[in-house]
Amino acid sequence: MGGTRFLQVVPVSDAVIAAVSMASLPVLEKVPLDSAAGRVLAAPVLADTDIPGFDRSVVDGYAVKAADTAGAGETIPAMLQCTGKVAMGDSGILQPIKPGECMYVPTGGPLPAGADAMVMVENTETAGDMVLVKKPVAHGENVLLSSEDFKKGEIVLPAGRKLSPQDVGVLAAAGCARVPVTKKPVVGIISTGNELVPVIKKPSPGQVRDANASMLGAFLLGYGCIPKLYGIVKDEKPAFESVVTRAVAECDVVLLSGGSSKDERDMTAGTIAGLGEVLIHGVAITPGKPTIIGRVSGKPVFGLPGHPASAYIVLIAIVRPLIDRMLGMEKPEVRTLQATLAMNIPSQRGREDYVRVKVADGIATPVFGKSGLLNTLVASDGVVCIPAGSEGLEKGSEVEVILW
Ligand code: AMP
Ligand code: MG
Repeated sequence: MGGTRFLQVVPVSDAVIAAVSMASLPVLEKVPLDSAAGRVLAAPVLADTDIPGFDRSVVDGYAVKAADTAGAGETIPAMLQCTGKVAMGDSGILQPIKPGECMYVPTGGPLPAGADAMVMVENTETAGDMVLVKKPVAHGENVLLSSEDFKKGEIVLPAGRKLSPQDVGVLAAAGCARVPVTKKPVVGIISTGNELVPVIKKPSPGQVRDANASMLGAFLLGYGCIPKLYGIVKDEKPAFESVVTRAVAECDVVLLSGGSSKDERDMTAGTIAGLGEVLIHGVAITPGKPTIIGRVSGKPVFGLPGHPASAYIVLIAIVRPLIDRMLGMEKPEVRTLQATLAMNIPSQRGREDYVRVKVADGIATPVFGKSGLLNTLVASDGVVCIPAGSEGLEKGSEVEVILW
């Protein structure tokens, strides 16, 4: 690694493999259902009972024997004797339905014994305690059978699933009050650079506000991690080493931003090498070439480039697969959109190129800009990845936009 002044770049796929191979196994913890949304299931959840637990009407209407309605129509309705009304929450209905009889059942109410179908109230008329059925129903029509949704013991949701609000509803129905989820990885974030000042300070000439810590932290928080911010560290080795050592002890993953290249002021690689080992220094990715992947005390430590756009691309392209693995996610949570390219995008062969694009009405327009600009990040909706083997993409080609 050391010696040469130039980075020895590896393909993005190698960088991802190196990152993911350092993932620690997901740890299971149980959380109340109310706080389970967005978490990843650590074990499959089974239904603790049949859902529904009884044959249930899915309409307001009359429970009947389907055979009694055969041939019924507007002009010659079937005449059935109504023997009563079922109330919501009724457990057992006293008298079963006999041929020629029916019973009123509201939507969701239990089907009386002997009935095998529901006639919608819209297809009936009443005359005293007689019900005129004007449309036949088939056996099982408008009825949800007991356990038709889920059987007791059946898997309602598999492990590895990131829980959506709908999932939480299904878990509630399945009786899962405490949900087995994977522990949130704690990710340490350290910004380095003598020019950096905190958000609350107005930068003097030569200074820049630390944008990366907030950006990385925001992504990680939204992604299901616990970001731990260690503030800004000067490009001075002893100070840097002590913060990295502390972060490695307290976190599952550590991200350092800035100082990841090979300038004499760049201390990230040397610091990681001094405390542990540098596995990769230089990735064939644009933006983001000066990326470091290392390990200290068995924990993954990344050196991300200081330019916010570069740091963000490396975060989503290389760090995210590691986080996915640590979260036990069955599939990555990447939102994509198909779009048509508005213009040619040239790309340097040998680099995986992440081009920021804006998407409107299915058309993806590149947002070009000098490296280091923040405005390209906010002006874009996502990125198009041009593979390392390609020299660019042509206007009019169909692309997959990875949305921010
Ligand atoms: P470096 O990777 O340290 O060579 O920094 C590259 C560029 O990114 C420089 O212009 C830095 O000022 C800038 N930079 C480094 N760290 C940050 C940060 N945390 N927030 C915003 N810009 C940064
Ligand atoms: Mg720097």
